[in-house]
Amino acid sequence: MTERFTKETVELDTGVYVWLHHDLTNAGFVIGDKGVLIIDSLRVPSFAKELLSDIKRITNKPVTHVIDTHSHWDHSWGNEVFPDATIIGHQNCYNEMIDIEWNDAWRRSVMADKAPWSDEASSVNITPPNLTYTTSMRLYFGQREIALHHLGRAHTSGDTFIHLPKERLLFTGDVAQSKGVPYFGDCYPEDWPLTDNNMLELDVERFTAGHGPVGTYAHLIEARDFIHQLIKLMKESKLETKSESESVLRVREALRPEFGEWRGFDRIDQGLAWVYQKISPVGGA
Ligand SMILES: [Zn+2]
Repeated sequence: MTERFTKETVELDTGVYVWLHHDLTNAGFVIGDKGVLIIDSLRVPSFAKELLSDIKRITNKPVTHVIDTHSHWDHSWGNEVFPDATIIGHQNCYNEMIDIEWNDAWRRSVMADKAPWSDEASSVNITPPNLTYTTSMRLYFGQREIALHHLGRAHTSGDTFIHLPKERLLFTGDVAQSKGVPYFGDCYPEDWPLTDNNMLELDVERFTAGHGPVGTYAHLIEARDFIHQLIKLMKESKLETKSESESVLRVREALRPEFGEWRGFDRIDQGLAWVYQKISPVGGA
């Protein structure tokens, strides 16, 4: 078992790195000709600065671009550390990050956690993307093609997949993890299965999620199957007019044989309750 909160920088391809933070949130970075592109700026400025100091061990080039995979605080609240960078996100990610109620709710929740970063979270200057897109966009970063795709709503309304087609690498944000249960509090359960199908159309050998280890295409298929089964089971349960608590129990136990060992499965009940509340019993997947 890996020790909690240990971190590790792994080079996936020449100049393409992941910064894995065990039990917390991962980031990525790509070194171009003139600058560095970061994928997710992490939860508070001190975390972003730690990432930056690890990047400085590898290159002196400045951070010119930051991509937010989505609006969640643990992925984007380090943005203020990069005032000179182009910060890129989906238009809906921007909309969520300028939503005062959304930000206040998250700030209250993070501060109530009394975690080591809770105090710092109270003074974060939430900094939304300054360049947005709606369907897809491409950066030619040095010699490398970096494609950003929004494949539908899923974990949030503004999830971005970052695909390096030549290297066959994908950054999935929190939509798909390798053997990990995602957070469902802000999700779109009607749309998520189709988004996962779209994701599998991309040519991918390995991927990095916002949480957990680097995975393979086979793990992406598992992540898709998990979401498909969960949504289908919950729809069936709601259609049979089962109550929320009955549905949570029933769906959790139906998923357990195949997914019971996944990270976060022991805390899945809250997530299933959120899906129950958001889902329509008929139609969709
Ligand atoms: Zn998230």
